[in-house]
Amino acid sequence: MVSSGDSPERLLIDTRRYLEQLREEGEGWVSFRPAPESRETPRRPDPPVQADGGLREQVRDCRACRLAQTRRNTVFGEGAMKRGVMLIGEGPGAREDATGRPFVGPAGMLLDKMLAAIGLGREDVFITNIVKCRPPGNRDPERDEVTACWKFLEAQIQLLRPRVIVALGAPASRTLLDTDLPIGKLRGRFHDCGGIPLLPTYHPAYLLRNPADKRKSWEDLQSLRNFLKQPGQAEG
Ligand code: SF4
Repeated sequence: MVSSGDSPERLLIDTRRYLEQLREEGEGWVSFRPAPESRETPRRPDPPVQADGGLREQVRDCRACRLAQTRRNTVFGEGAMKRGVMLIGEGPGAREDATGRPFVGPAGMLLDKMLAAIGLGREDVFITNIVKCRPPGNRDPERDEVTACWKFLEAQIQLLRPRVIVALGAPASRTLLDTDLPIGKLRGRFHDCGGIPLLPTYHPAYLLRNPADKRKSWEDLQSLRNFLKQPGQAEG
């Protein structure tokens, strides 16, 4: 047995004896390469997807679709999501494009009122859109724009792990549920979105134009409030 306390001469003698023993046993050569497991190239860990820093910068620098040509700012989304609620609209409007913040215009003010009516503040939710750049003229995002931007929303959902998603308006609801059904047929009940409960409801901008539908929107919000009251649903 060779130990670290042996003299160099003793080590050489023991090593030669060991090699001669190996030759007698038929070993043609002795490899001094590291063991196979230690020779493997260490697997590089997957790059961490960051909820803010990295992902936000990727969005800021993105030019993957035509909306990059006309935007002033990307609108990543914001909110501490203390109650596990993620709100997803269709795309930034003019004020959002100018400020880089989601839902800051009249529709945003109505949304704040709607949330406050069920005891939620901006800090309780995370608000974003299915596309992070403003479609010109506030049109709905085109399918290829949604497809190009999907990776960012998908990463946000994976990172934030919301307890419930509220889809605001038809484009967001249809995209997230992969359906062509109108919002009137989708709203009013929870759907499954990859294992996450998803509640479609009207977009606050639509409600500003169609105040008669505020009552249905209120019913949806009550459903959300009841959902959040269930045990284990981030009671505030
Ligand atoms: Fe990129 Fe999305 Fe903006 Fe298109 S909308 S340029 S995919 S961040």
